[in-house]
Amino acid sequence: MEKKNNPSLSFSANVNFMIDRALTVLKIDTGISNSIKTCNSTIKVSFPVEINGRIEVFTGWRSVHSDHRLPSKGGIRFAPIVNEDEVEALASLMTYKCAIVDVPFGGSKGGLLIDPSKYTRDDMQRITRRFARELIRKGYLSPATNVPAPDMGTGEREMAWITDTYKQLHPEDINYLGCVTGKPVAHGGIRGRVEATGRGVVYAIREFFRHADDVKAAGLTPKLGGKRIVVQGLGNVGYYAAKLLDEEDQSKIIAIIERDGVLVNEDGLCVEDVRMHMNQHKTIEGFPGAVFSENIAAGLEIECDILIPAAMEAQITKENAHNIKTKLIVEAANGPVTFEADDILQQRGITILPDAYINAGGVTVSYFEWVRNIAHIRFGRMERRHDEMRGAQMLKVIENMTGEKSASWMQKELAHGADELDLVRSGLDDTMRNSYQQLKEIYQSNDNVHDFRTAAYVVAIQKLVRAYIDIGVY
Ligand code: GLU
Repeated sequence: MEKKNNPSLSFSANVNFMIDRALTVLKIDTGISNSIKTCNSTIKVSFPVEINGRIEVFTGWRSVHSDHRLPSKGGIRFAPIVNEDEVEALASLMTYKCAIVDVPFGGSKGGLLIDPSKYTRDDMQRITRRFARELIRKGYLSPATNVPAPDMGTGEREMAWITDTYKQLHPEDINYLGCVTGKPVAHGGIRGRVEATGRGVVYAIREFFRHADDVKAAGLTPKLGGKRIVVQGLGNVGYYAAKLLDEEDQSKIIAIIERDGVLVNEDGLCVEDVRMHMNQHKTIEGFPGAVFSENIAAGLEIECDILIPAAMEAQITKENAHNIKTKLIVEAANGPVTFEADDILQQRGITILPDAYINAGGVTVSYFEWVRNIAHIRFGRMERRHDEMRGAQMLKVIENMTGEKSASWMQKELAHGADELDLVRSGLDDTMRNSYQQLKEIYQSNDNVHDFRTAAYVVAIQKLVRAYIDIGVY
């Protein structure tokens, strides 16, 4: 691939150039490298749906980047700009993402070309069900082979419709609930999935701050509390990440960048209030106690400690990379920094925690949901009361030995059996911490690895090559 004199690289070229760095470090043979990078298959479907008495034709894609482990996993986005290249790039990111966080799935992604805001709920239901039918019939959606999830423009609602469509076509499939993840909790979903990607971002940042040497190398002072943070995108991922950082870590969200402008308050914005304002008014403009500006581009260039792009791909490019004034970029979105920008930012000494690790919390909890669906039982259902009883007995023993009544915090902590949400959060935290440590080990032990992204891809590729060798592909 020729990167010079190429004014705008495609999304998949951007991902592949970044992967090439890791392949070079690992000195992997070109044949194997190409087979790792290539998408196995991509299907394009076009189908008619009657809207207000007129037939409209919709086009969508689903790409399977890898199926060394099944099912292949990845969201479906509904967006007015989506194309085959983007879907393939996102599918490949899913492969690496799953490998990095040890989720035993291949990588896949889907997209439907549509502006959901232009259609009624009923229209959306018919369109979604029809798209799902196309994918199911063509072998691109089932609990065993290919399991979608929410992404940009889709959520629990669409996942419930897809599940129901699959169930109608395959009523004999006892595992039908596992055909998609991100479902409503009352319909086979898991507690904690909606917040999972944003929460995973925060668990990753907290882990980063546990490593004093990494924090120092990024030019940051030790504590996460008080850090000045800019967040781009208050959608599902950005909202939960910013909210937790604001409410639990006492960080200051000094700016929020949205579609229509930027809100700035040096003392820190209350994320929950901004989101409520946005839901009510469909804009962040007019939010009291903050300065609003329409200059979105300038928003990304605000001086801060941590910049969290949580909107969409290609937000930091070679055009604005020189003007970014942060110490740490945390890629909550997929592909927010282009390959060329990445080079510039690295030269400028800005640390980047990469998308394939940072936003993997979503697919991690999707994995828990799928396991729950296949197991047909909620996590914690068997042991919760038992654990509570044991905790209560331990308290009694302590009280008998000390002759004192135990403190109320002790009663709360010890005599509490973990419920599904506790277990999901614990599994997510463990995953984000372990994966960071794997990245760090590569970063520290390999002289040719100079950034977390290359470290993440080295981790992923080592695991992929191992899997391919084990199943006899190489
Ligand atoms: N769409 C999300 C992502 O990009 C979640 C994928 C999933 O849960 O399968 O990671």
